[in-house]
Amino acid sequence: MHSQPINPPQRLLMGPGPINADPRVLRAMSAQLVGQYDPAMTAYMNETMELYRGVFRTRNDATVLIDGTSRAGIEAALVSLIEPGDRVLVPIFGRFGHLLREIAERCGAEVHVIETEWGTVFTPEAIAAAIADVRPKILAIVHGDTSTTLAQPLAELGAICERNDVILYADATASLGGNDFESDLWGIDVATAGLQKCLGGPSGSAPITMSARAVEVVDSRKSIEAGIRVDGDAVSASPIRSNYLDLSQILDYWGPKRLNHHTEATTALYGARECARLLVEEGLPEAIGRHRLHGAAMATGLRAMGLALFGDQKHKMNNVVGVEIPDGIDGDKARAAMLNDFGIEIGTSFGPLHGRVWRIGTMGYNARRDTVLLTLAALEQVLRRGGFALTAGSGPGAALDFYEES
Ligand SMILES: *Cc1c(COP(=O)(O)O)cnc(C)c1O
Repeated sequence: MHSQPINPPQRLLMGPGPINADPRVLRAMSAQLVGQYDPAMTAYMNETMELYRGVFRTRNDATVLIDGTSRAGIEAALVSLIEPGDRVLVPIFGRFGHLLREIAERCGAEVHVIETEWGTVFTPEAIAAAIADVRPKILAIVHGDTSTTLAQPLAELGAICERNDVILYADATASLGGNDFESDLWGIDVATAGLQKCLGGPSGSAPITMSARAVEVVDSRKSIEAGIRVDGDAVSASPIRSNYLDLSQILDYWGPKRLNHHTEATTALYGARECARLLVEEGLPEAIGRHRLHGAAMATGLRAMGLALFGDQKHKMNNVVGVEIPDGIDGDKARAAMLNDFGIEIGTSFGPLHGRVWRIGTMGYNARRDTVLLTLAALEQVLRRGGFALTAGSGPGAALDFYEES
């Protein structure tokens, strides 16, 4: 077979992630490699740690990257925190809550769950009651779950967890950079993310931050691997069950010891570092405000077209909206028309929402006025041709009015 060089079609990615990467991130990722312990590389690593402290809003020393997609960050957090037999509480309000349960179970935890209907979130009281009931070592919870487009309020959970001596883990993959997220203020012990949502990069690197309390838990099981171990190095009787995702060793790799572990994914680090630089340059409150503005403009335009939004809108994430597929419209056919006629990708849904709800994102590099207006204009044509009655120009017009008034 004679293959061609990579030349992907022009797409505007307006689904729930991934989104188009910021061109600056792509340029950073085309830079040449340096050695793992080159002073330039270790300086980039240190800068990346400091940049992500800003993004996570934390002073946690332990703020690094996990090499892998967001799921690698989640798995690193859970496999490093959970010792087989530990009790873990997982409140589930969408697909990614189920993922936390699944990973915690594979780590050998005794997992307890509480569930709420997709499209709703938990009250802090409901979570506090479950903590009193289960007495877990760890509370693992999703912040923004793209599967339902909602964000679980976390601000009060840190204090509840601290009172009960519970470690609080939050998956902030979909929310970080586009919604308020305050690691230190909210008392989050461990948070993980990815680049392909509000951070404006490609998937493949998972930023993580850990409180001193969480580091203590992880370090209590530290086991330096044979071959690089020296006299006096820790060898635990109950080591973390993954080598690659062993945070106690990964922190020593990023720390002053520069313990040899994996080879840092240099190109991914260049990308992750540029994502954080972009956010810090724009200002985190400004970036969150941009996601709020364009997310609201999209929602306003969709409503003006006569579409119903999915889920409790009081708790909608800034960066993604769920739209109920109108009666008589074939959801998959309409998505295909968006892609083939306009080059715009919007998202389908999982589980109970499949075939019922589209998910439209305005995140990272694509949280902009032109992308919102283009998407609304294209969707209007697709819906009209599918037989859905709407007033011509209603969607983009309402969004333009909204921008004028904002
Ligand atoms: C999108 C998303 C992920 C994605 O994980 P990947 O491994 O990067 O595909 C994880 N968690 C949440 C809450 C998400 O919305």
